[in-house]
Amino acid sequence: MKIWLDGGLKDIESARVSALDHGLTVGDGIFETVKAVDGRLFALTRHLDRLTRSARGLGLPEPDLDEVRRACAAVLDANPMPLGRLRITYTGGISPLGSDRGDHGQTLVVALGETTRRPDSTAVITVPWTRNERGALAGLKTTSYAENVIALARAHQEGASEALFGNTVGQLCEGTGSNVFVVLDGEIHTPPVASGCLAGITRALAVEWTGAKETDLPLDVLQRADEVFLTSTLRDVQAVHRVDARELPGAPGPVTAKAMRIFDERAGDDLDP
Ligand code: PLP
Repeated sequence: MKIWLDGGLKDIESARVSALDHGLTVGDGIFETVKAVDGRLFALTRHLDRLTRSARGLGLPEPDLDEVRRACAAVLDANPMPLGRLRITYTGGISPLGSDRGDHGQTLVVALGETTRRPDSTAVITVPWTRNERGALAGLKTTSYAENVIALARAHQEGASEALFGNTVGQLCEGTGSNVFVVLDGEIHTPPVASGCLAGITRALAVEWTGAKETDLPLDVLQRADEVFLTSTLRDVQAVHRVDARELPGAPGPVTAKAMRIFDERAGDDLDP
């Protein structure tokens, strides 16, 4: 397995990042997960736009997107696989302990892991912790993901694959690595970005392709919605068959099934050659 680091391909066993990398010591970094289908990347331009927005939000110098594209192509080429998750990580670089971000340049790592298609439906839980929709990191895809790690571990303990957060004013927000949609009286709704959720790329495509509305929703909408589904790079559109103790028999319901079909039909259009 080869990964991109320090401007070139390296064997994964020998690739090393400094112990003083600000991404490691304080989570000062950003990332993207991009789906790779038979060596082609899905929605790469949208991912690179978001990487740039996250860099600006964190005050990191903007990444050199030509290098990132070259790195992605090289990693894909070196590691052929049918379905992969390509991870771009970009951090503040080496910084002396206890100091601000250093001036040694940034660290760029591009790595690839094999993955499999997700099941059509899944169970989710809600967690008591909140997303801070007014926090400095709201909407940024940073490597400060430990809160998501805790929430996801709880989901796994409870036999679910995702944990959903509300925000500080009790509205539905998002999952640890996915956006959430509900169906109410035949209409599809998803929380607006102002709820504190990540502007998911799959979310944006689902809104565009299904006409879903961006609506402030109370967290307890999950207990009465006719259907619930998740979107993310690795899940695509995935139905929810259980939220906490509430079963949603027959998931995917008709509206979700249609959204899944539309997504499958159109997703091929956005593959990078
Ligand atoms: N929300 C969070 C917190 C995420 O980390 C992700 C993806 O990793 C998403 C939502 C879904 O975004 P995307 O569709 O771009 O994968």
